[in-house]
Amino acid sequence: MNQQLVDEARKHIVKTVREFISRDVLPVASQYENEDSYPADLIDKMAEMGLFGITIEEKYGGMGLDYTTYAMVFEELSKGWMSITGPIGTHSILAYAIQKFGTEDQKVKWLPKLASGEKRGGLALSEPVGGSDVASMETEAKKDGKNYIINGNKLFITNGREGDVFFLLAKTDLKISPKHRGITGFIAEKGQGFTAGKDLNKLGYRGVDTAELIFQNFVISHENVLGGVEGQGFYQVMDALETGRINIAARAVGVATAAFEAAIKYAQERKTFGKPISERQTIQNSLADMATKIHAARLMTYDAAKQKDSGGRFDMEAGMAKLYASEMCGEVTLDAMRVFGGYGYMKDLPLERYYRDAPLMIIGEGTSEIQRLVIARNLLKKYTI
Ligand SMILES: Cc1cc2nc3c(=O)[nH]c(=O)nc-3n(C[C@H](O)[C@H](O)[C@H](O)COP(=O)(O)OP(=O)(O)OC[C@H]3O[C@@H](n4cnc5c(N)ncnc54)[C@H](O)[C@@H]3O)c2cc1C
Repeated sequence: MNQQLVDEARKHIVKTVREFISRDVLPVASQYENEDSYPADLIDKMAEMGLFGITIEEKYGGMGLDYTTYAMVFEELSKGWMSITGPIGTHSILAYAIQKFGTEDQKVKWLPKLASGEKRGGLALSEPVGGSDVASMETEAKKDGKNYIINGNKLFITNGREGDVFFLLAKTDLKISPKHRGITGFIAEKGQGFTAGKDLNKLGYRGVDTAELIFQNFVISHENVLGGVEGQGFYQVMDALETGRINIAARAVGVATAAFEAAIKYAQERKTFGKPISERQTIQNSLADMATKIHAARLMTYDAAKQKDSGGRFDMEAGMAKLYASEMCGEVTLDAMRVFGGYGYMKDLPLERYYRDAPLMIIGEGTSEIQRLVIARNLLKKYTI
């Protein structure tokens, strides 16, 4: 697509998502959230809008859009209700991994179904023994002729109950050193024999499912090894997680923007001691800081997305954007709540939801501590003396 077409497609999809949010999502978000019930109708509408295939190439049935547009879409959705980004978040990580590393047969088999939303995907990486220390995973894939037999549990899996296909990471070699070289990526479909445990009860990010996946003698064909090569899983997932970090940073910008916009409106309406609180310098300072931090986070997120669009690895920039935006979101949602005083603490307003949603961005797709490790490792390479 040439740049003009990209710009037009971007404008169109962002506008469509914005209209969807104000028409279909905002009126029902708090209810779904409080009941912790799955918003199937909203997710189906997202599939109709093509959001399950935003970055999947057009020849495989997707929209073929770039990562800047992808970030903008996640931002708009999160301004409305962050939870609804869940079903397309790790789904798009799976799609990215197949598109980048899959064999042609795997692309033809999976990408059109993922693009239409007929099949919903996810990432099965984290385990009860740990999420940050990926190389220590215990799920094992034992070779058995042309198949593998998989045993182990994956924890905190978004779309675990509702999803059909997962980018599953398991060890095909337990003895190799370093350990991460023993990890292989699989495209695992639920109907073939693994199950989801019960939904996990979360602080925020409610309404969408996060579950355990249980693999007990799950038999999978060698045709489902991503890219057909063993031992590549760690590299594949680290690459794919960079796109995940853009989507998490964009979610953080969206949630923080929603909180800020509510706060600046309320500050002009709420009067104390005879004047609107927006006329108090302390409140003005707070609003100015919020807006400045959001602006910085948005620029960092778009910059990381742009680097992705120009090709190559960009783990430092994605890590910086994710680190800054998620921590910023935690600060801004609390500051916005302060502007609302007691009302901000009540379930009647979405402020408390924004505040509860913020920590997911700090933890998911690599915690802030892990982002700092990634950033520092890159910096030390760049500034080696
Ligand atoms: C709602 C939700 C949805 C999720 N969805 C998915 C999903 O779809 N797929 C998936 O695979 N995972 C998913 N996760 C898992 C998430 O990615 C992990 O929770 C995260 O990576 C942290 O792993 P952990 O929980 O095992 O914490 P740990 O790795 O045990 O870390 C505990 C603490 O120690 C810190 N720490 C760990 N190692 C170091 C170190 N070397 N240096 C300094 N500090 C360190 C961490 O930052 C953290 O503060 C989800 C999590 C949540 C909460």
